[in-house]
Amino acid sequence: MQTYEFDTVILGGGPAGLAAAIYASRGAVSTALIDISMMGGQPSNYLELENYPGFPIIGGYDLMEKFEEHADKFGVQKFPMQEIERVDLVSNSKVIVTKEAEFKAKTVIIATGAQPMKLGVPGEKEFVGRGVSYCAVCDGAFYNGKTVAVVGGGNSAVEEAMYLTKFAEKVYVIHRRDELRADKIVQERAFKNEKLEFIWNSVVKEIKGDDLVHTVVLENVKSKEISNLSVNGVFPYIGIVPNVENFSGQVEQDAGGFIITDETMKTSIEGVYAVGDVRKTPLRQVITAAADGAVGAVYAVKFIESLKDVPQKV
Ligand code: NAP
Repeated sequence: MQTYEFDTVILGGGPAGLAAAIYASRGAVSTALIDISMMGGQPSNYLELENYPGFPIIGGYDLMEKFEEHADKFGVQKFPMQEIERVDLVSNSKVIVTKEAEFKAKTVIIATGAQPMKLGVPGEKEFVGRGVSYCAVCDGAFYNGKTVAVVGGGNSAVEEAMYLTKFAEKVYVIHRRDELRADKIVQERAFKNEKLEFIWNSVVKEIKGDDLVHTVVLENVKSKEISNLSVNGVFPYIGIVPNVENFSGQVEQDAGGFIITDETMKTSIEGVYAVGDVRKTPLRQVITAAADGAVGAVYAVKFIESLKDVPQKV
C-alpha cells in the first residue's frame, strides 16, 4: 500500500474542501485533497444556483468545475474515489487510511459535508431507485407526465418540488406543519405554481408499491387521520446529517453529529479543522462552505508554520 506524507490533508472535495485546497496550496504547504467520489460535492447535483456572488445564475456542476480548475492551478494533489477505512486525528501525526493508500499529515481539514436525512419509514429503503429518490436533478426526468410527492418544507423541498414540475404533471409537497420553513421569495414562487399542491400537517408513514412506488400512506398529525396518496415517486427533502462516520467521537460534535469549531474552524483537536456543511453552522450554502474552507486553510497553514518552532514527537 502506498504511503503519502503531506502538510495538510483535506477530506472532501466539495466547495469547502476545494476552497480550502486553494488557500492551503497558495499558503505553500503540501496539500492533498481526498474524496470518496469525484470532486465537486453536493452542488455538482444542483441544477442552478442563483445566489453565488458574481454568477447571477450558474449550473452547480459548472461552478464546481471552476472551483476544481482553480485548485488545480495551485498544484493541489487530488485523490478521487478514495473510500476511507480509518482515521486517526488524535495523534500528532494524523493518519488517514483508505482502501488504496495511507496518508500522514500535520493537519487535517474535514470537509466531508452532509447527506440527505432519511424518513425512516417502511418502504423508503426498499424503493430507493424504484420511486424513492433524494435527487430531483438526477431523477426528475424519469417522472415525465407522472405524479410525485416531495416531503419537507425547507428551501430544498420547495425548490426541488418546483424543479420537478418541469417534468411531472402533479407535484405534492407534504409538510408536517402548516407553514413552510423555506425563504419567503421561494415560497412566493411556489404558491404561484399551479402544478404544486401542498398537503399540510402531514407525515409519511409508509411508502408502498410493487415493482415501483404507487402509494404513500399519510397521517394528518392533527386529526390522526390516515390516508393513501397515489404517487409514482417520493422525494424526501427533510434536511441533512453530517458525514462523520470515520471519525465520530474523536472531535467534539453537537447532538446532530455536526462538528463544533471555533471561528478559525479549529475543532477540539489541535491541528484538525472542520469546514462547510459538516460543521455546526447557521447557514449551509456554497458561499459559506467556501468561506469556511478559506478560514480553515489559513489557520491550518499558520498551525503548520508554528510547528517549525517546536520539537515534534511523532
Ligand atoms: P431544512 O431547512 O432543515 O428543512 C427541513 C424540512 O424538513 C423542514 O421543513 C422540516 O420541518 C422538515 N422535516 C425535518 N425532519 C422531518 C421528518 N422527520 N419528517 C418530516 N419532515 C421533516 O433543510 P433543507 O431544506 O435541506 O436545507 C438545508 C440548508 O440548506 C438550509 O440552511 C437551507 O436554507 C439551505 N438551502 C438553501 C438553498 C438556497 O438558498 N437556494 C437551497 C437549498 C437549501 P419543520 O419546518 O417543521 O422543521
